[in-house]
Amino acid sequence: MTIPPIEVLPRDLTPYRAGNVGVDYVHRFVADQPGPHVLINALTHGNEFCGMVAACDLLDRGVRPRRGTLTVSFANVAAYESFDVSKPFESRQITHNLNRIWSTQWLDGPEDSVELRRARAMREVVAQADHILDIHSTAQDVAPFWVYPGHARNVAVTRALAQPLTHLVMPNGMSSGTPLIEHGRHGQADGPGAAVVIECGQHFKRASAELAMVVTQDFLGHFGLIEHEPKGAGQHRAYEMLHTHVVQNAGFSFTRPLVGFEVFAKDELIAIDGAEEIRAPCDDCTIFMPTRAPIVGREGVYLTRPLG
Ligand SMILES: [Zn+2]
Repeated sequence: MTIPPIEVLPRDLTPYRAGNVGVDYVHRFVADQPGPHVLINALTHGNEFCGMVAACDLLDRGVRPRRGTLTVSFANVAAYESFDVSKPFESRQITHNLNRIWSTQWLDGPEDSVELRRARAMREVVAQADHILDIHSTAQDVAPFWVYPGHARNVAVTRALAQPLTHLVMPNGMSSGTPLIEHGRHGQADGPGAAVVIECGQHFKRASAELAMVVTQDFLGHFGLIEHEPKGAGQHRAYEMLHTHVVQNAGFSFTRPLVGFEVFAKDELIAIDGAEEIRAPCDDCTIFMPTRAPIVGREGVYLTRPLG
């Protein structure tokens, strides 16, 4: 498996370890003027550097909200610090996927791991926010896209911003666990505000970090925390999540190399997982997030269909 160029390297986050809310790597700034509480969260996955660049940009520049509350957090710093340039895909997580354990079952459950401890520490930080931008990137070099549950509040914000123009909507949430943006009241129909994931492009590309910085500005500008108008406009296109396939066998393989956005006809074979054939459930079935290297128990591919 070839390693892509690493255009952005991790930087030392020790200077941002001591936060101001009693949780490491969490920084909060409250304006005199009342307004919404926005959380900008980076590094839910340890090797997704674009969010780290965007969060550091806010802290390095000393950005303060002109109204409301701005919270900036680095989530899985333990995984981030395990980064090895010769194995750059291995620092996504230590034990658990930090983006699938935000249910009370996991958070109040008996298990322990680096990620569970971190999620428990950050639980109130996530719960207290009105609006959340959770910044991610993809293993494959594909165009950026939003991912969010299809609540009107999420659609409204992401459609109001200039980029990216591609939306992956999860009508029934993630079948493989509870992501950060669906924690507690954020996952409910009457949630407090928008909570969305931005996938900024390939993990190690400079362009992904640049997009993360722009979208962060747009998000904060949209809610009036900073003075900023999103630039650009274009045609949005949305896909509906149909199914997330979790790898069951070490021999899982796609029928051809896939990077994402490939389109399959109804019943066309996409992958083989042991005795199971993964076939397109509909025409124009479009795949997202094909795994680079299948790992049993982790997600292999998302099956979606274009929305009108
Ligand atoms: Zn991620």
